[in-house]
Amino acid sequence: MSNSSRTITPSGICVITFDRPDSSANIFCEQTFAELNAHLDFLGSAEAKGVKGLVITSGKPKFFFAGADLIGFTKDPTPEKLGALISLGHNTFSRITALPIPSVAAIHGLALGGGCEISLACDYRVGSTAKETKIGLPEVQIGILPGWGGSTLLPRLVGLPKALEVILGGKQLAAVPALKAGLFDAVGPRESLLQLAEGLIKKGKRGPLPKQWMNLGPAAALVARQARASVTAKTGGHYPAPYKALEVAVQALKGTKEQGFALEKQAFIELATGPIARQLLGIFLLTERAKKLALPDDLPTLAGAIKEPRKIERAAVIGSGVMGAGIAQWLAARGFGVTLRDIGAEPLAKGMASIQKLFGDAVKRKKMTPTEARAATDRIVPVAGNVPLRNVDLVIEAAVERLDLKQKLFAELEASTADDVVLATNTSALSIDSIASALKNPGRVVGIHFFNPVHKMQLVEIIRGDRTDAAALDTALRFVKGIGKMPVIVRDRPGFLVNRVLTPYIAEAGQLIAEGYSVVDIDTALERFGMPLGPLRLIDQIGIDVGAHVAKDLSERLTSPAFHPGPLMAEMANRKLLGRKGGRGFYVYDGKESGKPPFNVEIERFPGLPPRKPAEPTLFVDRLILPMINEAARVLAEKVVEAPEDVDFSMILGTGWAPFRGGPLRYADSLGLPKVVARLEELATKYGERFAPCEMLKSMAAKGAGFYPAA
Ligand code: NAD
Repeated sequence: MSNSSRTITPSGICVITFDRPDSSANIFCEQTFAELNAHLDFLGSAEAKGVKGLVITSGKPKFFFAGADLIGFTKDPTPEKLGALISLGHNTFSRITALPIPSVAAIHGLALGGGCEISLACDYRVGSTAKETKIGLPEVQIGILPGWGGSTLLPRLVGLPKALEVILGGKQLAAVPALKAGLFDAVGPRESLLQLAEGLIKKGKRGPLPKQWMNLGPAAALVARQARASVTAKTGGHYPAPYKALEVAVQALKGTKEQGFALEKQAFIELATGPIARQLLGIFLLTERAKKLALPDDLPTLAGAIKEPRKIERAAVIGSGVMGAGIAQWLAARGFGVTLRDIGAEPLAKGMASIQKLFGDAVKRKKMTPTEARAATDRIVPVAGNVPLRNVDLVIEAAVERLDLKQKLFAELEASTADDVVLATNTSALSIDSIASALKNPGRVVGIHFFNPVHKMQLVEIIRGDRTDAAALDTALRFVKGIGKMPVIVRDRPGFLVNRVLTPYIAEAGQLIAEGYSVVDIDTALERFGMPLGPLRLIDQIGIDVGAHVAKDLSERLTSPAFHPGPLMAEMANRKLLGRKGGRGFYVYDGKESGKPPFNVEIERFPGLPPRKPAEPTLFVDRLILPMINEAARVLAEKVVEAPEDVDFSMILGTGWAPFRGGPLRYADSLGLPKVVARLEELATKYGERFAPCEMLKSMAAKGAGFYPAA
């Protein structure tokens, strides 16, 4: 089946429309290039003699082009194949530029990567003002650089500073900002794109672009210096792609277009064959895997009330606190009706205020129009008390974390909702089966565990209790995918997946402080390792009281010393040093969102703390990271999740775990399991049994195995 079609309008304009069958997006695969080249052959033939101009457009509602076919192109990525791929793009797109007739990209929907680059090869670009339309070059986020002309041509068109925002910052421009930047030549409603394109075609081929003064000599050098500093500040220097892209963008301005393309090709091969692009691409592939996640095949189909997954239009969210309000807002923004229930008017008003704030921020960031935000707010109906929920298709409970309260609440929910409505809980740690134990039909209960803040965190753990119906799990899975979150299916074991693997890290950070190491030294070492926040800043975010409670609870339920946080955090909680939410924790917060907060000197003055010890970054990394690997192996051994991919993907999405290292288990493989086991044994001898390697790690190390097949 064809990815594209061609028509000639009565006014003699050739319109090529890409509309890849059975897919929501157009992508640049080999077939797309072959078809595009065939269209260009036609334009060069006698048959096309009277054609006055070319318009390239898309038939998709949300995409112009999503970019290259990463899955197809990354199979067997030898330097030769990658080089050929880059040349294919350069050569094909250059044919558009070289046409004797003017060409226009008529863009509606996302134009990313190759989608932006094909438009740069055209004389003109017009964009629809619909909110779906955005143009950008996100390549550096997967460890490569725009290699089909983007690094060379965008700076010439919009100037180096704006081009670097797009190339290095992954910034996607909507129609009006793209027009202001000079990336689009005209914008209008989708229906007017062809007319706008025809208007531009009448102007004829575009002459050489005027030189941008910011692209010249000292000005360009200054821009490059600032961009480099900002990349280092943002990424800690862990990712080579933005530096390479910067170098190519700056160097390409000094020579011809063709020289720029040669630089792109060389840099692309270098990056794409390097280890970091491979890890980042691996994460991209895991994201695709999560989007297609299916039910496990070992599910019992109990004779429960829920026989089939139910289509969700209206959900009830129980509890309008931090999580309930966040979930309600996310759902309403995606078109769901929401009944938001709490015990009284006061907590409801607080919840609605935080929802208003989230919508206000979305409007400020131009994610929504004020009208859309108002309509979404109107979809939320706040209700106080135990009103029946007869008209809802799904319940998500996010009330306080107490088993007795949740058990009572679920018994009431079972009675006040239709029999085939799935009852989900957002509990962070309580057992799904225990919550369901009082129900006549426990098969209705499933965990849908969102992370905080809901609007930012993509991962959602779906927890299958031992008695959860297959259809209830299916409902949860379809629902989570349908609201644009990334699901992982997890068994009902203490801490589920992410909190369980993360807690030894948090607990050990508390132990290090108690031994006299400095907060700043520990956080710096782990940030250098690649974590977005050091462990102590992370605990401040979570809340010292919450972190200490989770650690204590897990150490009791899993009877493992790896979770024991030591006395420090309990003492901090006693002194109301609760972290960010209370203004003081390991750091002091002034209410501003950005920047590194200053360290809280009170911590070092706690009675009983030994004198400050000098920093030992390697020891910190070993003592904090290796226990996570150990716990991740236990999680796999206990079949909490099915595959190492589940662990790595969830830790990266759920906690920001150093993405370029591929997640804790890929990192373990890169170290070699015998080395991991030997170091854990050393640490166990020196610091205690909590470091003892688990059976699975030891036996894998002895067999010379890894979590993943060897590359
Ligand atoms: P919260 O204290 O901010 O909010 C809880 C809300 O539930 C309050 O508004 C309270 O009035 C309400 N409530 C209490 N009893 C109720 C009842 N019977 N019916 C209706 N509402 C009731 O708590 P939170 O942080 O939003 O946590 C809610 C749930 O989500 C907990 O189970 C928690 O473990 C889980 N969770 C929390 C986080 C987090 O970071 N805060 C992350 C993931 C999961």
